[in-house]
Amino acid sequence: MTQTITIIRGDGIGPEIMDATLHVLDAMQLGLQYEDADAGLVALEKHGELLPATTMASIRRNAVALKSPLATPVGGGFSSINVELRRQFDLYANVRPAISFPNTKSRFDSGIDLITIRENTEGSYISEGQEVSEDGGTAVSITRITRKGSERIVRYAFELARSTGRKKVTIVHKANILKSTSGLFLKVAREVAAEYPEIEANEMIVDNACMQLVMRPEQFDVIVTTNLFGDIISDLCAGLVGGLGLAPGANIGKDAAIFEAVHGTAPDIAGQGKANPCALLLAAAQMLDHLGKPDDATRLRKAIVDTLQARDNLTPDLGGSGNTLSFAKAIASRV
Ligand code: ATP
Ligand code: MG
Repeated sequence: MTQTITIIRGDGIGPEIMDATLHVLDAMQLGLQYEDADAGLVALEKHGELLPATTMASIRRNAVALKSPLATPVGGGFSSINVELRRQFDLYANVRPAISFPNTKSRFDSGIDLITIRENTEGSYISEGQEVSEDGGTAVSITRITRKGSERIVRYAFELARSTGRKKVTIVHKANILKSTSGLFLKVAREVAAEYPEIEANEMIVDNACMQLVMRPEQFDVIVTTNLFGDIISDLCAGLVGGLGLAPGANIGKDAAIFEAVHGTAPDIAGQGKANPCALLLAAAQMLDHLGKPDDATRLRKAIVDTLQARDNLTPDLGGSGNTLSFAKAIASRV
């Protein structure tokens, strides 16, 4: 069966990094079909909407989208398109790999290969119960954790570990202080972990997890945690291994999954062929894992590593003198 993927080329450097990424995917001869759909500023200009119904229908039909960064116009009351996509498709799992790569001028250029799985729909991010007292002196907010929300995110983490041959899942929490909310998450996480005896499960309090990540990141494999802790930890991990140009992410739900680069539209370098395509390429590797093609995902990641190692046509952000497409061609020659 041919798999069709919704392709959202996006704004700013989006089209350039998407061309580069599709060039590499084509060289891999995976038999993927692409269906273009607009979102962001480009969609607003063409269709008068940031997120046209045809784009939503395409994602719903194909269940898998590869998406470049989107610009949301400033002012005018537009809400973030990414938040809207997350809400509409109930994309409950935010999945952020962090892999150390050679020649990236980062703090760790070997030994790290971990994935942070962040719960994306509840916790401290619910919009209810945000209150400031009349005198402005007291503020409260509600954190809501559910058994259902905790169970599906932890199960996602263990299933991912199982299907990609990862060995360990670290449950990150603060149940010693946040006894009700983090406590429920931890309780449910332990129950789910017990169903996966072949995968090592360990628990770590979030503050210690941050210190351990900075000191000995190689001890981590899969991390699963609640919304706010996951937000912080996934950026911490991106910072450990080379920053924005190399950080992919996925938002995954029951009926749809969207794979993307973590960085924005980079208007300062758009249209100049300077953009590093690696983040979107690594998102494509995650997509291949999701499509049940872990061997192809590994092949793609290895081609990226080998190209970085050889310093072959690296983009300027990596200190090279290649451009977006020549870098992609160098990677494509190694797949
Ligand atoms: P947006 O408003 O869409 O968030 P931004 O400029 O605020 O865009 P980013 O796009 O994340 O934020 O960019 C931050 C900085 O990192 C910019 O200087 C940009 O040029 C650089 N950058 C981001 N992505 C890349 C990339 N893929 N390759 C090279 N440089 C990048
Ligand atoms: Mg930004």
